[in-house]
Amino acid sequence: MYQMDTRLPADATDFIDDAKLEAMVAGLREDPEAVRRVIAKSLRKEALTVEETATLLGAESPELVEEIFEAARTLKREVYGNRIVFFAPLYVGNFCTNDCKYCGFRRSLTSAVRHTLSDEELTREVEALEDLGHKRLILVYGESPKYDPDFIAHTTRLVYATKKGRGEIRRVNINAAPLDEAGFRTVKAAGIGTYQIFQETYHKRTYAQWHPAGTQKADYMWRLNAFDRAFRAGIDDMGLGVLFGLYDWRFEVLAMVTHARYLQAKFGVGPHTLSFPRIKPAEGLALNLEYQVTDAQYKRLVAILRLAVPYTGLIMTAREPAALRREVLAFGVSQIDAGTKLEIGGYNQKRSREGEQTLNREQFQVGDTRSLDAVIGEILEGGYIPSFCTSCYRLGRTGEHFMEYAIPGFIGKFCTPNAIMTLAEYLEDYASPETKAKGLAVIEREAARLDPKLREEVGRRLARIHAGERDLYF
Ligand code: SAM
Ligand code: SF4
Repeated sequence: MYQMDTRLPADATDFIDDAKLEAMVAGLREDPEAVRRVIAKSLRKEALTVEETATLLGAESPELVEEIFEAARTLKREVYGNRIVFFAPLYVGNFCTNDCKYCGFRRSLTSAVRHTLSDEELTREVEALEDLGHKRLILVYGESPKYDPDFIAHTTRLVYATKKGRGEIRRVNINAAPLDEAGFRTVKAAGIGTYQIFQETYHKRTYAQWHPAGTQKADYMWRLNAFDRAFRAGIDDMGLGVLFGLYDWRFEVLAMVTHARYLQAKFGVGPHTLSFPRIKPAEGLALNLEYQVTDAQYKRLVAILRLAVPYTGLIMTAREPAALRREVLAFGVSQIDAGTKLEIGGYNQKRSREGEQTLNREQFQVGDTRSLDAVIGEILEGGYIPSFCTSCYRLGRTGEHFMEYAIPGFIGKFCTPNAIMTLAEYLEDYASPETKAKGLAVIEREAARLDPKLREEVGRRLARIHAGERDLYF
């Protein structure tokens, strides 16, 4: 059995000063001029300090909040263009030794039906996802000795090796418990993309309330230090997150920005993505939370995160209902999932495929239950380009190198053409006739906007895709 070394490295620092952040939240005041100054800085694509982020959090009046929304929309267009990258979560197993009170996998929940996908079941799940058109997955695991680094590496390799028809998974991200340095090295060697670990809440007193003592997850510092260990193990593609609803959302935004800036200062690489899930109903969890985040607050927090970290991807999951997702997309979200099934084995399960959820087999309730094709169709109508691009990671453009490339011009040269080509593959292989018609029109429009030389090259590649070639990327 894998023996994890759970001692903290000697240089582990607690960079979250709860008292300081609490005082900042208590002192928030609206200052329109300061808000506009901070917005202007962000529109110059400079990352904000924690104090500047607090200035934005102080904005309460509808007009000023709208200015923040508008700035977030502008920044999204300028930094990311109109692409939205698609992924799907794949739950590998829900055994768990922790007891997080918000989670449908917690160990004390005796009604939970537990299962770990066998190799054969995992292969079938991947094939089902490939049949829908997915190219990018995030594998999700409970925390258990069953899911040690070798197991995570093994399942990752199995996913990459599973190909069906023209389907293949080109990027495997991971959402699992924090590992020790050796463990991170093992999973890195399997070719993972991003390693996601959500701190859940950065507020220590609240953290202790939701994560009972006597579990590994109760160790706040082990989690807070996780990306330091990951980075030393060679993982420079890190996904931070907060589970919103456990504590004051404004404190969490300041803490997440603190974490991002800490990583940037210490390792020269900020997080690749931020996730900001809101807590959802789960088996045995009544949602009468003191710190529940309203839709209006949710919109503010996404827009403010966009402005605070202009070059960090923002992930919004299907936890949120369709109507809200539609609106918030414009504020700078860069990645979404669609057609999501949380039940272990759910992508092959008839009732799950038909949209039914069985909470004692799943982690929480999904808000947007539409199919991938339906979401792609809608996104196309909204003027976006759905993208299945995985190019940067495969060409080694991650971490520090990604930051170098995240400069004006990069999107137009690489991201948009790659989005167009991966969309073309999706339309050829998986789309419904209606979605295909909408998609072809968007490709024509977007290709026409490329500069002439690139347009010609993209035109040639589109013809090759039409003739059956796949995986052509810049
Ligand atoms: N077990 C690992 C861990 O906790 O780090 C892997 C991640 S867990 C399966 C994925 C994430 O789901 C958690 O980090 C948590 O933020 C989120 N989650 C848990 N319960 C939830 C709920 N009721 N609503 C929304 N998200 C939830
Ligand atoms: Fe286990 Fe993760 Fe759920 Fe906590 S959030 S009970 S660690 S699966």
